[in-house]
Amino acid sequence: MRIAIASGKGGTGKTTVAVNLALALGSAQLLDCDVEEPNCNLFLGFDMEKQEDVFLPYPVIDQHKCTLCGRCADICQFNAIASLSKSIMLFPKLCHGCGGCSLICCEGAILEKVRSIGTIEKGIDDSFNIELLHGILNISEPMASPVIRQLQEHIDDSTVVIIDSPPGTACPVIAAVADMDYCVLVTEPTPFGLNDLVLAVDVVRQIGIPFGVVINRHGIGDDAVEEYCHAENIPILLKIPFGRDIAVLYSKGIPFVKEMPEWGSNFRDMYRNICGCISSESGV
Ligand code: SF4
Ligand code: SF4
Repeated sequence: MRIAIASGKGGTGKTTVAVNLALALGSAQLLDCDVEEPNCNLFLGFDMEKQEDVFLPYPVIDQHKCTLCGRCADICQFNAIASLSKSIMLFPKLCHGCGGCSLICCEGAILEKVRSIGTIEKGIDDSFNIELLHGILNISEPMASPVIRQLQEHIDDSTVVIIDSPPGTACPVIAAVADMDYCVLVTEPTPFGLNDLVLAVDVVRQIGIPFGVVINRHGIGDDAVEEYCHAENIPILLKIPFGRDIAVLYSKGIPFVKEMPEWGSNFRDMYRNICGCISSESGV
């Protein structure tokens, strides 16, 4: 079972939901795919060990062999190569490492090198039987998706897998959510929350996986998010109240299921609900 926790924007509480769900289930693999700012371990405090680098190939041009035909610049969809009158220029940070340019070069003038764009780290907590993996994108590197994809190569399908997705609705979110069985969209009951939820719903519907909504900070704002979910037939899986107790624990970096056991049972109910949704979708 693979569950992605996503949100249309940052700061809605998806990391809170991912961490508390993992702790409530007590036996899970948690992948923090928010590789520009992985936050799960701020709440878990595991000892993390580096597993590997994430390498991305990039082309290097031998100007002695190059005939300036310009075919490599023409094929590059990401404008990482510019064909000038006297040379070919390369912009490695724009390169997606697709290898197209080296394939098209008839002169053998393009070699591929690799550079590290990030790392994968792992930590294990035996008391909760939770394995946490997170990716860290190197500062100034623009491409999160290769780190997310390599992180997901560590998925262990013999257990429940919870993915903390990047915020927003761009490519990294799609990379994080695409192969999941279910997506939990976390939002808050405000006009901004509704606006971002509508965008996120659009993305998840296009990907084509079942999904439901968690309303965080329930009690602030208005009922528009709930009305939207009812109108769109989207299940509301959980409402987490805007309360002092939870806010104080959050500010101390303590997952609230640790101090408020009733919430462990709420998250386990949510998980059973998700399992039921998947079973009915698949006709089981
Ligand atoms: S395709 Fe090869 S020969 Fe042509 S411009 Fe690019 S590097 Fe030079
Ligand atoms: S490897 Fe792909 S993305 Fe990178 S420069 Fe070549 S064609 Fe462009």
